[in-house]
Amino acid sequence: MPTIILCMNGSNNHKSIIMEKIALFPGSFDPITKGHESVIKRAAPLFDKIIVAIGINTEKREFFTVEQRTKWLKEVFKEQKNIEIMVYEGLTVDFCRKVNARFLLRGLRTSADFEFERSIGQTNKILYPEVETLFLLTTPEHTALNSSIVRDVLKNGGDVSSFVPDALVNDLQKYRH
Ligand code: ADP
Repeated sequence: MPTIILCMNGSNNHKSIIMEKIALFPGSFDPITKGHESVIKRAAPLFDKIIVAIGINTEKREFFTVEQRTKWLKEVFKEQKNIEIMVYEGLTVDFCRKVNARFLLRGLRTSADFEFERSIGQTNKILYPEVETLFLLTTPEHTALNSSIVRDVLKNGGDVSSFVPDALVNDLQKYRH
């Protein structure tokens, strides 16, 4: 259910507006792992909508194309009615404004993640004071998992099926060397 907010103006007239509770989960998802999937699915009941957004970072070399990553994200979350997949360029907070997301959602694996996320979160708060960054702790079995490990295992001919959502397993076979 969307959150209903009552606004009062100076003349005591009530005006009700309906504001959806929208969270943005930004990342590279190169590729999406079971860790991402778990955090996003656990967060889904907390919001009216979660936008999982692939951020185009020109400094980072991508392994999988944006089209491929988008296709996988759509497959993984196809049963989740309140999860939408998007792609954006530029500042994450500018994209939050554009899509009316007042929450930024991130996963925390380790204290190193925390230090990294803290500075980004505090910077985003200065750039867009209305946004709140929220963190979900990773479940223990996903703490060691990240996309670059998945890419390394693939590049060296290993089996990544324990690390990625089932929807990707067949497609990823062809990247094994
Ligand atoms: P980037 O590092 O480019 O921001 P990632 O796709 O690696 O993007 O990560 C996006 C978000 O997903 C981050 O908040 C990160 O902490 C979280 N995340 C990454 N791997 C995991 C994992 N194994 N378990 C839970 N959260 C994770």
